[in-house]
Amino acid sequence: MTKSSQTPARVRFAPSPTGYLHLGGLRTALFDWLYARHTGGQFILRIEDTDQKRYNPESLQDLMEGLRWLGLHWDEGPDIGGPHAPYIQSQRQPIYQQYANWLVEHGKAYRCYTTEEELEELRARGLPYDRRHRNLTPEQRAAFEAEGRPFVIRFAAPLTGTTTVHDAIRGEITVENATIVDPVLLKSDGLPTYHLAVVVDDHLMEITHVLRGEEWIPSAPLHVLLFEAFGWSAPVFVHLPVILDPSGKGKMSKRKTVVDGREFSPFVRDYIRGGYLPDAMFNFLATMGWSFDPEREIFTREEAIERFDVADISPKATALPFSKLEWMNGVYIRQMDVVALKDAVAPFVAADLGLDVETLRRDPRLLALTPLIQERIKLLTEATALVDWAFLPAEKITYPDPTQLIGKKLTAAQSIEALEAARELIATVEPFEAAALEAAFRSRAEAMDIKLGSFLTPVRVAVTGKTVSPPLFESIHILGREETLKRLANAIQALTAYAATAVERP
Ligand code: GLU
Repeated sequence: MTKSSQTPARVRFAPSPTGYLHLGGLRTALFDWLYARHTGGQFILRIEDTDQKRYNPESLQDLMEGLRWLGLHWDEGPDIGGPHAPYIQSQRQPIYQQYANWLVEHGKAYRCYTTEEELEELRARGLPYDRRHRNLTPEQRAAFEAEGRPFVIRFAAPLTGTTTVHDAIRGEITVENATIVDPVLLKSDGLPTYHLAVVVDDHLMEITHVLRGEEWIPSAPLHVLLFEAFGWSAPVFVHLPVILDPSGKGKMSKRKTVVDGREFSPFVRDYIRGGYLPDAMFNFLATMGWSFDPEREIFTREEAIERFDVADISPKATALPFSKLEWMNGVYIRQMDVVALKDAVAPFVAADLGLDVETLRRDPRLLALTPLIQERIKLLTEATALVDWAFLPAEKITYPDPTQLIGKKLTAAQSIEALEAARELIATVEPFEAAALEAAFRSRAEAMDIKLGSFLTPVRVAVTGKTVSPPLFESIHILGREETLKRLANAIQALTAYAATAVERP
C-alpha cells in the first residue's frame, strides 16, 4: 500500500444538477467512494447549483437515486447534513461573498463594472476581456459606484510567470499565467461562479483529493492560483480519463445514441429501469480507467475497496464496452442467492403485469420459478416473459396462433390427442411433482409411439402460451393441477376450433 492509501481521504462528488446522472458522473462518484472507503475517510456529496439558468429540478432526485442504487452512500451531504453544512452551494451564498470580498480587500480581486454591451463588443471582435477595470483609480471607482452600476468580482490573476498543477496520474500540467484573463468569481447577481465556489468549498470542507473528469483540466491552474491567493494548500488533483462511446470513436454522448444498431443510453436511470444489477454496474464502472487485476474481470466490492488507489488510475480514455456490461450482469445474476434474485426481479414482473410488488415478493410461485430462470436471463427485465404465464389467470393465456399447439411431425388431430392424454395424466399422476410427471409423460409418449418432444410442445404452449418456457414439469408443478387442467381444456378447444376450419396438412 502506498502512503496515500493510509491517510484518511476526504473526497467529494460535486455534480451540477443540470440533467440526469450519466455513467461518467457515476464512475467519478464510484472512484470517490472507493478511495474514501479504502482510506477509511469520508465521501461527501455536494451540489453545485450556482448556475441557476441550467438548473433542472428533477436532477437532484435522479442523481441521489442513482448513487443509492449503486450503493454509494455518502457520509455528508444535503439530505443528511454534516460538519460543513449546507452542502448545496446556492445555500452558501454569504460564504462566497465573504471570501470574494476578502480577495478584493487584499488586492487579489477587483470589482469590474464593464457592461454586457461592452463585453459583447469585445466578443464580437474575438477579443477576451481586456482587464480594463483592474487598475481603476479611486475616483473612477467612486464614479461607477455613484452611478449604481452593477459589478462582478474578477480575480486579479498574475500577469507573468507560470502555474503548475500536480495531477496524481498525469504529472505536472503547466500554463502561462497570462492566459488566465481575470476570470469572474462573483457574478452581478451575487452568486459565485463555479471557480470560486469549488475552491472555497474544497478548502472549507477539508477535501484532500479532487477526482473529476478530465474536461476540468483547463480550470485547474486557476483553482491552484485561487488556493494560493487565499493562502490555502491545494488538494491532490486527479483528472479522470474520459469515457468514450461503445464504438470508441468519440466521447460518450450526453444523449441516447445508436451504435451498431443498438440504442445506447448514457443515463444511469435507463440502466436501473433496464434491469441491470447494481453489483454488475459497480464492477463494470470500476474497470473504466482502473484495473483490479489484468487476469480477473469479476471482483467484489470488498476486494475493490481493499485494492483501490488513485495512483493506479490510468489517464487513458476508455471505450464503454457495452456488451461486456450485459455479460457481466448475467454473471452476477447467476451468482445471486435465489431469494435475492426473486426480490430483484419482483418489481419488474409486478410492473409489467400490474401486480402488487409486495404480494408478488411473498408469492411462493415466484420463489419457485426463480431458479428455473436464473440461467436464462441476462437482464432482470427479461424475467417477465419467462414467468408471466404463472401469474395470469387461465383466460389470459390465449392462442392467437393455434398452429403453435401442433407438435412436430403431428397433425392437429394427433396434437389434440396428445393434449387429451396430458389432461388425463395431469389429473391423476401422484405425487404431483416434476419427476413423477416426467416419468408418466415419457411412458405415455412411448405408448403413443410419438417423440417426447412432439408430445410436450402442445402441452408447453397450452400451459404457458409460449413455445419457449422454463422447464415444463417444474412449471406445471408450480402452476398446480387445477390451473393446468383449465389451460389444457382451453387449448383443446382452441385447436379443435382451428382444425374444424383449417385444411389438414400432415
Ligand atoms: N460541478 C462540476 C461538475 O458538474 C464539478 C467539477 C469538480 O468536481 O470540480 O461536474
